[in-house]
Amino acid sequence: MSVDAPTSPNEILEQGASREWRMYIGGERVEAADGRWTDVMAPSRSGTVIGRVPRAAAADVDRAVQAARAALPGWRGLPATARQKALLAIAEDLYAHAEELALLTATDTGNALRTQARPESQTLANLFRYFAGVATEVKGTVLPAGEDQLQYTIREPVGVVGAILPWNSPLMIAGMKIPAALAAGNTIVVKAAEDAPLTILRLAELCAPHLPAGVLNVLTGFGEDCGAALVAHPQVDKVSFTGSTEVGRIVGAVAGERLVPLSLELGGKSPSIVWPDSCDDATVEGVLTAMRFTRQGQSCTAGSRLFLHEDIYEDFLDRVVARLKQLVVGDPLDEATDMGALISQEQFDRVSSYVAEGKERDDVTVALDGSGQVPSGLEGLYLGPTVFSRADNSWRLAQEEIFGPVMVVIPWRDEDEVLAMANDSSYGLAAYIWCHDLDRALTAAARIESGWVQVNQGGGQVVGQSYGGVKESGIGREFSLEGMLEGFTHIKQINVKLSARPAEPREATSGKTDVGAP
Ligand code: NAD
Repeated sequence: MSVDAPTSPNEILEQGASREWRMYIGGERVEAADGRWTDVMAPSRSGTVIGRVPRAAAADVDRAVQAARAALPGWRGLPATARQKALLAIAEDLYAHAEELALLTATDTGNALRTQARPESQTLANLFRYFAGVATEVKGTVLPAGEDQLQYTIREPVGVVGAILPWNSPLMIAGMKIPAALAAGNTIVVKAAEDAPLTILRLAELCAPHLPAGVLNVLTGFGEDCGAALVAHPQVDKVSFTGSTEVGRIVGAVAGERLVPLSLELGGKSPSIVWPDSCDDATVEGVLTAMRFTRQGQSCTAGSRLFLHEDIYEDFLDRVVARLKQLVVGDPLDEATDMGALISQEQFDRVSSYVAEGKERDDVTVALDGSGQVPSGLEGLYLGPTVFSRADNSWRLAQEEIFGPVMVVIPWRDEDEVLAMANDSSYGLAAYIWCHDLDRALTAAARIESGWVQVNQGGGQVVGQSYGGVKESGIGREFSLEGMLEGFTHIKQINVKLSARPAEPREATSGKTDVGAP
């Protein structure tokens, strides 16, 4: 059975493997060329299959890239206002289907509906609306090179974009790439993550009525056969990858060999630094938001290294633990749930091994053991929030991206020392500074090595901000007009020698002025 749209999470959960989804290539819903399928599992219900998606390989990638290439001249040739209109129409449909998308993404990612999935589906629609708005801002410049010269630039779409998505917030990451690429006149082939592909297929379905065939193509499949083929395809003109630093290196090597433009949004191990003047409940709330506990810590921007000043260390930590104990871990579809389930058994085992290592060590204290908050009677990939106290910044758990609900707390006394520790990381994606003395806070913000610093707040990205990392957290920026221009267009310079004109006397020139024009 193939479907147009799921009607409810219960239906998805009940129909399980009998529900077959299709990919989108050239405006058609298709299966994999070799007929292979892969099961999609519900993180919140261990062993429950919630659908089957095609397992795409090189032949499917080629078909999708050819479709995108065929659609390119027509799409890039449209006036920007026509692309704007299409993206705005999509945004309207996304707002209208926001609850449906939220329910679906809660089901296939395990992210809680109330705290994560609903805000994410809104952000997706906001991003389509934003990039529709800036579609007419793809402008060039003119050089003052003399009267017989017209020297100008135009920004052109790069061509066919190959975009690769992770599973942790698939709709939001799709929203960083798809509307930005399309607004600038590119066509796109998107590869959804194998663990959370359903909302991306549904997104393609919602976009389809508003786009010419082939402008947006969506593939489902594994990294090694579908993702790798997309990056290596000779007719992909730009690669936009979001995922782990480990895979980012592989993708970067292939794109480098091909000499195609590349943007990488990769991992993080972000510092969250609390100054002694900020031992208050609002800061505690902000720190926990920054840590993304309500997304099970499965966020690249998670402030997972908490640096607490010695003067407030115990007091602040007590407040953190007390607040975390109130979080409800449970079924992502339940409105009462704050924290849902981890995405996969593999990820669950990985995070659990970090937790086990922390518990075994004598030189750190377990300030909060999340196992006490795991819901009973629910067979899913649930882990409660775990906090390790008085850790050393050089410890593996303070250096590696755990991508789970595990926070490491490190004491500090000296400002230079804490900033050095904050910067002692191979990553540089986000940072959080909690200090009411803004002189100090902004000085620290300037000294932090990361692409994004927040002061006294820990929420998510604001639509339109320049978002991306430094060091091993990535290359390039997305989420913004400048990200769209840098990432999805290139500049063409055109220099024209105008035919020689006899110089006219100034009086004659001024006589031609449209006197009286407004
Ligand atoms: P991942 O790197 O394992 O996979 C990401 C995507 O790459 C998936 O679609 C996967 O199928 C594909 N892939 C795997 N091997 C590939 C290959 N050889 N060639 C091409 N594609 C390949 O990451 P994940 O586990 O899905 O996501 C978690 C990671 O993503 C974390 O490290 C997180 O920090 C990062 N992330 C970063 C951002 C950001 O904006 N910087 C946002 C979200 C997630």
